[in-house]
Amino acid sequence: MKRPAIPSDDPQMLAAWAAASAVPDPEIPVLTLEDLGVLRGVERRGGRIVVKLTPTYTGCPATHVIKRDVETALEDAGLSDACVETVLSPPWSTDEITAQGRRKLRAFGIAPPLEAGREAVPCPRCGSVRTARISEFGSTACKALWRCTDCREPFDYFKCL
Ligand SMILES: [Zn+2]
Repeated sequence: MKRPAIPSDDPQMLAAWAAASAVPDPEIPVLTLEDLGVLRGVERRGGRIVVKLTPTYTGCPATHVIKRDVETALEDAGLSDACVETVLSPPWSTDEITAQGRRKLRAFGIAPPLEAGREAVPCPRCGSVRTARISEFGSTACKALWRCTDCREPFDYFKCL
């Protein structure tokens, strides 16, 4: 996702974006909300700052945690007046995870969601594509458990959506 345009002469909006984008994902703390692509923008509505967030997986309990964490980050940035709005459309997809986010996932040992046209999930440790799914369910509902047949290590795969 492209970073939305924020008026550079509005320090409060810039501060709101900076605070919200740096919030870590509660399930994969190496990723920020900006890496995850769930921030849809910051606007001013009737003088009030509104941060727009989109949920990741429907029903993922992390969604509520993310909203609360963003509210806390805004308060800590001195923007206790700002509010967080959930945007459902267009829905989030794993394609919105940024290139930086994908690099961070691999470095953390999680295979990022496959890009369009690719079928094999490469092992995040050795890069081998000789991998197999062990279980549809990994450490969280958003991940599946895979194993590399070369280095024999199990790894989490961030499921596509
Ligand atoms: Zn491997």
